[in-house]
Amino acid sequence: MSQTGTYSLMVHGGAGALDNVKDEKTAVRYLESIRSVLEHGREILELGGSALQAAETCASLLEDDPVFNAGCGSVLNENGKVEMDAAIMDGRDLSAGAVAGVENIANPIQLARLVMSESEHVMLIGEGAMRFADHCGMERVPESYFLTPDRIAQLEEARLKHKIMLDHDSTEEDTEDQKYGTIGAIARDPQGNLAAATSTGGIVNKRMGRVGDSPIIGAGVYADNETCAVSATGYGEDFMRSVLCKTIADFISMKGMDAEAATKAGIEYFHRKLKGRGGVITIGQDGKCSSAFTTKKMIHGWIEHGAETHARF
Ligand code: ASP
Repeated sequence: MSQTGTYSLMVHGGAGALDNVKDEKTAVRYLESIRSVLEHGREILELGGSALQAAETCASLLEDDPVFNAGCGSVLNENGKVEMDAAIMDGRDLSAGAVAGVENIANPIQLARLVMSESEHVMLIGEGAMRFADHCGMERVPESYFLTPDRIAQLEEARLKHKIMLDHDSTEEDTEDQKYGTIGAIARDPQGNLAAATSTGGIVNKRMGRVGDSPIIGAGVYADNETCAVSATGYGEDFMRSVLCKTIADFISMKGMDAEAATKAGIEYFHRKLKGRGGVITIGQDGKCSSAFTTKKMIHGWIEHGAETHARF
C-alpha cells in the first residue's frame, strides 16, 4: 500500500531511567512539550514544507525548551561548561551537516544545517565551528543562557559520585533527580523525502572535548529516502561503536526488513553486542513510525500518516 501524499513526524526527548517522572505534573510537562512541537511540525508539513524543514524546526523548538538536554537545557561537562553536538541529514541526496563541541550557540541544529548548506564540509568542531557561526551571522549567547541551578546541582551530584551519566540516568534507586533529555526529530514529507536531526548537550560530567554519537552520521542520526530516517538517544559511545542508525538502514536495504523490524533488530543487536543503553526513533520510506529502546523509558511522540498526535514515555 503506497502512502505517498501523507506525512509522518517523530520526535524524542531522551532515554534513560526517567525515575524523576514520578509525579503527574512533570509527566504532563514533558508530554505537552512533545505534543506542541509535533503540532508545529504538522503545520509545516501541511503547508508544503519539506521533511528537512520540519526536522530542523522541531529540533530547534526542543532545543529552546529547558527541560531537554540540548540547546538552553544542555548538561554540563567536567569543567561546568556546556559543549554541544548536533547533526542534520537530508535523505534526498544524503547531504549532511554536523557540529561538535560548540559553545554559546542557542540552536546548534541550525548551525549544523548551515554547515550542510553553506560549507563544503560535513562536520565542524569547536573554535572552527564557532568561527563559521560568526561568519554566517549567527548570534552568540552568553554562558548564563545555559547555566541553570538544576544543571549545576546535577553536575555536583555526578562529581560527588565520580561518574559520568546520562541526563536521565538513575543515580540511586530512589533518589533520581535528573530532569532533561537529548532531542531528535525525524520526518517524512508527502513527496516521500526523509530527514533526521539530533542535538545534545552530551552526558553529565563528560570530559572536556568528548564528542558523542549525536553529530556522527550513521551513529546518532541517519536519513536516506531509500530506507529510513533515524535519530538515537542514550550512551553515545554505545551508538558510535555499533553505528546503530546506519545499521538499522542497512537491515532494510540489505536484509529486506521493513523499518519496524529493522528498528527492533537494530536494538536487539545493540543490546546483544554491547549491552547498549539507549533508544531510537525511526520513520520508514512508507511513513511508518517505530521506536525501540533498552532503557526503562524514552520520551517520544509521533504523527503517523498525518493522523493524530501521540506522546509517551
Ligand atoms: N547520545 C547523547 C550523547 O552521548 C546523550 C543522550 O542521548 O542523552 O552525547
